[in-house]
Amino acid sequence: MAILIFFILHWYTSLFFQSIFHHRYAAHGIFTMSKFMEKLFYIGCFITQGSSYISAYSYGMMHRLHHAHTDTKKDPHSPDNTANVFTMMWLTRNNYFDIYKGKTAVEEKYKKDLPEWRAFDKIAHNWITRLLWLAAYIAFYVHFATEWWMFLFLPITALMGSFQGAAVNWWAHRFGYVNFKMKNTSKNILPVDIIFWGEAFHNNHHYHPSKADNASRWFEVDSGYIAMRIMDKMKLIRLKAK
Ligand SMILES: [Zn+2]
Ligand SMILES: [Zn+2]
Repeated sequence: MAILIFFILHWYTSLFFQSIFHHRYAAHGIFTMSKFMEKLFYIGCFITQGSSYISAYSYGMMHRLHHAHTDTKKDPHSPDNTANVFTMMWLTRNNYFDIYKGKTAVEEKYKKDLPEWRAFDKIAHNWITRLLWLAAYIAFYVHFATEWWMFLFLPITALMGSFQGAAVNWWAHRFGYVNFKMKNTSKNILPVDIIFWGEAFHNNHHYHPSKADNASRWFEVDSGYIAMRIMDKMKLIRLKAK
């Protein structure tokens, strides 16, 4: 039971930081916040993403490239460029590390206003830290697992961020429904999104990348947007458009 509760909590908290901080704040600048709050978000990403922590700066660039070059050879994670979801995950990883290490030349326009905290990334974004997280996850599973099959969740726990990224980016350019006809393959993957913090409305998002609310039809509810509205009311962040 402890494993399942942990897994569910880990899923939602990790994706919360990925969606709100990496995607909506870093890549799209949906809201602004103080440097202090930005640092709290960095720390939140580290705690919740653990072994799969990624840099908001590099992710922001990679994601902007995805919007600029959707479905083409220059798209850093188009399902069309690989054979299956696992090879796409691997290609995304390689493209991400090339951007992180500066091996890929990225135009200045894709770097504008990205959050950056190099000193923190030095600690959070290295193999020793990742291995320590992995050791902590294994210890937790060994201590709390009551059935053998619970260990099947361990690889997903270790690769949580990459797994969630691949789930959305592969699925949302393969299967789902379309509200807005565009020249790209983006789809809304679930009409009622209770597992992806509103990231399931990927077709809506491609149509309005700078809109805070990813929902567009009456039955669509973007829980990430609701969370941002609450944080805006609490004056933790400032939504640019309400
Ligand atoms: Zn997309
Ligand atoms: Zn986006």
